[in-house]
Amino acid sequence: MDEPLGTGVDEPQDRNGAFPRLTDEQRARLRMRGSLERVQTGDILFRAGDETFDFFVVEEGAVTIVDDFGSANRVIAVHGAKRFLGELNLLRGDRAYLTGVVRDPGVVTRVSAAEIRRVVAEDEELSNIIVRAVLERRSILIGLGTGHRVIGSRFSPDSRRLREFLARNRVPYHWLDLEEDPEADELLRTAGIGPHETPVVLVSGGKTLRNPTNAALAHEIGLGARGAPPAMCDLIVVGGGPAGLAAALYGASEGLDTQAVESIAFGGQAGTSSRIENYLGFPAGISGSELAGRAELQAAKFGARLVVPAEATAIAAEDGHYAIALSNGDVVRGRTVIVATGARYRRLDLPGLERFESDSVYYAATQAEAQRCFGDPVVIVGGGNSAGQAAMFLSRSSASCSLLIRGGDLGKSMSRYLVDEIERGSAVDVQAFTQVAELVGGDALEAIVVADARTGEQRTLPAKALFVFIGASPHTDWIGDFVTRDEDGFLLTGADVPAEFADGGRPFFLETSRPGIFAVGDVRSTSIKRVASAVGEGSMAVRLVHQRLATL
Ligand SMILES: Cc1cc2nc3c(=O)[nH]c(=O)nc-3n(C[C@H](O)[C@H](O)[C@H](O)COP(=O)(O)OP(=O)(O)OC[C@H]3O[C@@H](n4cnc5c(N)ncnc54)[C@H](O)[C@@H]3O)c2cc1C
Repeated sequence: MDEPLGTGVDEPQDRNGAFPRLTDEQRARLRMRGSLERVQTGDILFRAGDETFDFFVVEEGAVTIVDDFGSANRVIAVHGAKRFLGELNLLRGDRAYLTGVVRDPGVVTRVSAAEIRRVVAEDEELSNIIVRAVLERRSILIGLGTGHRVIGSRFSPDSRRLREFLARNRVPYHWLDLEEDPEADELLRTAGIGPHETPVVLVSGGKTLRNPTNAALAHEIGLGARGAPPAMCDLIVVGGGPAGLAAALYGASEGLDTQAVESIAFGGQAGTSSRIENYLGFPAGISGSELAGRAELQAAKFGARLVVPAEATAIAAEDGHYAIALSNGDVVRGRTVIVATGARYRRLDLPGLERFESDSVYYAATQAEAQRCFGDPVVIVGGGNSAGQAAMFLSRSSASCSLLIRGGDLGKSMSRYLVDEIERGSAVDVQAFTQVAELVGGDALEAIVVADARTGEQRTLPAKALFVFIGASPHTDWIGDFVTRDEDGFLLTGADVPAEFADGGRPFFLETSRPGIFAVGDVRSTSIKRVASAVGEGSMAVRLVHQRLATL
């Protein structure tokens, strides 16, 4: 007879609160919100692909968590008595991508997904334990490379798009490279898919998607808020970076019916940062992805409706409110709007840049990029904090790391702490008065020709990856001249709005030329481009939204 799945596997040690055991008192409180059930070996508590599933506490016995149930049967963890099952998708409402199967018979407490979200909102002690555990478990699962399978060529821009979309939304996936991984060929053959149809996503417990759009993939894995948008909300937040997430969180927590729409992934630019060292309350720094994950959960906990991927494409004034058209065809209507669409990084003006952009040129330096250029020589361009952080981070895993700056002084636009770290014996080779002249290589980048900004003299640096951090332009094309902008396209607010454009009296601080439309964070003209200031502005704007609503 086959042994039950997970036989001989030990329960994981509790690391950083990922696998806590609940006390008798805590379990008694959960039993009051659910029901006790007797379970037998082989019973399935939830299955990969389930659209909704319940929260379980193991009272007696043990449950195995399995990836690829029924085919590969990869055992991820075993949970014994007093531990609970479940992961971030339970609180976010995404579909299950793992299966929970009873190993040792016993008793479980079953609490519905809706009820456990209420517990998280109401019970401070349990909320702390559960939220911490699900976030930690998500990080562990991302590190394990479990979950949905993505098969494609690393040279394909669509492979890169899909991987980036999943990674930025903190969805665990397993990447299989057609060029390197024999399992990729085998999986394609079994599924009857030709290499020309790749990239392909094999959704755990779900469909096989051939080169899906981000929206189609999100739909299949159950990402983001579902169902029709409400007919009218008090507040629409456009953009889900730190500013938008703060606005959504404060809006919802202060009783406003709040809807946030985000085109790619909640977290924005900050979500792509490997480590934010200067955000209040995190003395050891925090990865942008983790900060974004926490904020997203917090905003959802207060009842904000978070829609992703949904890009705002146009805005219009209707009868006393605003209507925003989304790329998925929906129109959302709200009495007030907070624009938090941030900025995008500038590209270098170089011949042949596009050729290398799919594989060798990067605009963010997260763990994913560091893995891709592990052990390679890398070059970073830029003199700001993003460039400095990327250099420190990448220098730990690359063969060599050169930081090119146009001027002669690193401290001109970089925070002092970073300058000190770089200069204090780091492996970063700072090359002053240097700019990129040419990219050299066949399919992938091999070297970079750089020029002395003063003399024009050229030399060649070995480079398999180029990281570009040279400033940003705002995401404001969708709003056009519906509100006033500065010469670079950033939105004007408060006293900066020219008097002749202020429609309906002088705007409040952070309010644009249209009453009830506010701009916060990087998209706002003259804003300070930092996480803390974006969060501050997003929170402050909600106060002003209340004031504006009172006048409407
Ligand atoms: C690699 C990196 C490292 C950084 N490190 C630090 C640091 O250590 N400390 C620090 O203080 N700052 C840091 N910054 C800067 C900081 O991340 C930004 O200042 C901050 O993210 C700005 O927040 P925001 O919400 O205004 O905009 P963004 O973070 O740019 O977010 C805007 C969001 O709006 C979305 N969006 C755009 N257009 C639309 C549309 N039409 N419809 C719907 N959604 C849309 C985007 O997809 C994006 O998610 C870093 C930036 C980067 C890129």
